[in-house]
Amino acid sequence: MLTFYSVLLAVQKDLYEYLRRLEGWLPSGFLEQDLAVLMPSLPGLLKAVETAGPTTLAEEAARLSHLSDSEMRGYLLEYWKEPSDLQFFAKVFLQPYGNWMIETGARPLDRCLEAAENRCPHCAGKPQLSYLLTHESEGSARYLLCSNCLSSWNFRRLVCANCGEEEPEKLGYFRAPELDYVRVDTCDGCKHYIKSIDLARLGLAVPLVDEVAAAALDLWARKEGFTKIELNVVGL
Ligand SMILES: [Zn+2]
Ligand SMILES: [Zn+2]
Repeated sequence: MLTFYSVLLAVQKDLYEYLRRLEGWLPSGFLEQDLAVLMPSLPGLLKAVETAGPTTLAEEAARLSHLSDSEMRGYLLEYWKEPSDLQFFAKVFLQPYGNWMIETGARPLDRCLEAAENRCPHCAGKPQLSYLLTHESEGSARYLLCSNCLSSWNFRRLVCANCGEEEPEKLGYFRAPELDYVRVDTCDGCKHYIKSIDLARLGLAVPLVDEVAAAALDLWARKEGFTKIELNVVGL
């Protein structure tokens, strides 16, 4: 699973670098318009997943590679307007674009997702994960990382990142001794969970990667009846 994830990260990095290096081009904020620049990179992702991905994804990659250009555009635009963590390819493919868009100060202008404390302030994406950082002056702070554009925002510590529940009796957490820097934050109000990476416990942790690596905790949470707020790109 981590080997496959490293392949995905490499494809995403290439796409991000390609976008950054394009001379005289910046994301417009309208995906439909920007797709002309993105589309040539899509076959590379499909090929990588066909080669390195699990069977179901490899088959889906083969199917998608036969779509016409306009069908593929339709598929990507549909995801962009209504993101779903089940749309694996669109999510993986559009994350580097979303990331570069936010970094260049553009905003998605063709999707109107709800604004809320638990949604990305830049693109209204759902949180993929949470992480804790210790600042020398202010103590420990919690951040959520956006599943669409990969930027982060500050979020209150003792609050469910899904429904906003604040009752301490309804909020729980679980940690496994062998992975003491990752924990599962659960909410009995909405029965959702999110994983938190504690960078104060392991400063070298890379939240996106360590979230995927701690897959055993997803199995635990699911067994306990919790649903993840947003599945990661390997579907856990
Ligand atoms: Zn975002
Ligand atoms: Zn909740």
